[in-house]
Amino acid sequence: MLRRPASKLRRSRPILGLVMAAVMIGFAAAPTPLSPQAAQAEANALFSAQETAVYAASPAAAVAARAVFAPRKSYPIAPAMGLVEHDHPLGVPAPLASPSTSFAFRRTNADGTPVRYDPCRPIHYVTRAANEPEGGAQIIKDAVTALSHATGLMFIDDGATTEAPTRRAAVRPDFQPELYGDRWAPVLITWATSAEEPEFPEINASHYAFGGSESRASGNSPQVYVTGSVELNAKILNDAMAKPHGAEIVQAVLGHELGHVVGLDHDNNEGQLMNWQVSWKIHDYQPGDLAGLAILGQGKCVPTL
Ligand SMILES: [Zn+2]
Repeated sequence: MLRRPASKLRRSRPILGLVMAAVMIGFAAAPTPLSPQAAQAEANALFSAQETAVYAASPAAAVAARAVFAPRKSYPIAPAMGLVEHDHPLGVPAPLASPSTSFAFRRTNADGTPVRYDPCRPIHYVTRAANEPEGGAQIIKDAVTALSHATGLMFIDDGATTEAPTRRAAVRPDFQPELYGDRWAPVLITWATSAEEPEFPEINASHYAFGGSESRASGNSPQVYVTGSVELNAKILNDAMAKPHGAEIVQAVLGHELGHVVGLDHDNNEGQLMNWQVSWKIHDYQPGDLAGLAILGQGKCVPTL
């Protein structure tokens, strides 16, 4: 089978999106029962306030966090070229009900186009079920369905995997033939423990999840995402599921992270799911998110990857 010449492949850093500061205090301490309404208000206020604190008050911290991912040296190993590549996109984004420009892209190519997945081949994903909260699998399934609807990208659930999360500061190989065969590694979704992810400490955890994708380019092609990952904070999200509106919070986290996976960055508009000030009240994609996702689903076929 064909292998890509080493000199023609460029590998880029993964873009893992920081999301949502933790609300460990808010979830861990519940001294007295609250009315449902009061509990909801409190949970929402803590969620939003913590989020704002990290991203609005400390932009330098966000920049430093990204700097973890220095450009890597060439990574020539790759699957056979053009696997399962069609000559046309496999779907179209859902029509936009409300046009909006309230979105941003994680990365753009030199020609100004965003870095995207190839819409002409399916994107496979796997889930490691360990530490998954009850109901978590359905939330993942629904979130991927919503993402597919918004982008037109085709996702295929490959089921369970034993692959452990790669620490955020490390490199997850985008080609793992021993585990997944001769193809790009599927998008990996995991519920990570504090032992697995140093940035998910048991106490004073500061992040709910990370999500992003890795890209490659071949010859003169633009950078194209080939795989990605969503690393969910198992403890925080299990705790959240036991609280009012926990399911909406997990839904928001997954929708937000999957938005990063396909290429959305944070948006300054608090009404969007891709805003860093995430609230359980906004757990679906909003007009700006949807407009950005529609663009991200309309890349070109890239048969040379
Ligand atoms: Zn984020």
